[in-house]
Amino acid sequence: MGVKENIEKVKLNLINAAKKSGREPSEINIIAVTKYVDIELIKLVNECGIGSFGESKVQDFCKKYEQLGKGYNWHFIGRLQKNKVKYIIDKVDLIHSVDTIELLEELEKRATLLGKNVNVLIQVNISGEDTKQGLEENMLEEFLKEVALFNRIRVLGLMTIAPFVENPEHIRSIFRELKNTFEQIKKLNLKNVDMKYLSMGMSNDYEIAIEEGANLIRVGRILFK
Ligand SMILES: *Cc1c(COP(=O)(O)O)cnc(C)c1O
Repeated sequence: MGVKENIEKVKLNLINAAKKSGREPSEINIIAVTKYVDIELIKLVNECGIGSFGESKVQDFCKKYEQLGKGYNWHFIGRLQKNKVKYIIDKVDLIHSVDTIELLEELEKRATLLGKNVNVLIQVNISGEDTKQGLEENMLEEFLKEVALFNRIRVLGLMTIAPFVENPEHIRSIFRELKNTFEQIKKLNLKNVDMKYLSMGMSNDYEIAIEEGANLIRVGRILFK
């Protein structure tokens, strides 16, 4: 496994995909999804110049966090149960997977106890697959208007997980649709909502996601193969 080489390759592909669509490569950030690996590899990735890490299971994340200490930038990207919020809220920089008001209420409650704000992305289910989590796109605007009622929640953008499809052009249309929605919401200037991050693209499809406007990509397998 050549983690270093894999990272270099992803960076190169990122630059090419950005240029292809007339974007500045430096505005796109790589999140290394480390759910498959232990802390030795996380340290190695960090030494290769990637400082942001994504984990999707609360228990695994907390264990790694404890072992690594501070100084890493953590993104929580998996399904988050309300009763687990308290374990991660003071450890993560951004939670990508918020899709219910109940979860926002719990985040608000815990953030208030800590006296700090919590940064989140809203996960959107573009493909309409009912196995996937995420808010239906047509519910998004109404949902985001409710965010104004909270004091400690800061919505910093949107996230989606594309389905696995044979034809990558289908994925492209999903990414394009979310980017359009992202831009439309930006114009609404909603309270507590700042459309800064568009989190889309994984090992299979990050180049297409970048071409369509992603500025946070979440790649795992491709780094550790
Ligand atoms: C695992 C995971 C990823 C990374 O997927 P790869 O195919 O390994 O790149 C990205 N996002 C989420 C939400 C994940 O759970």
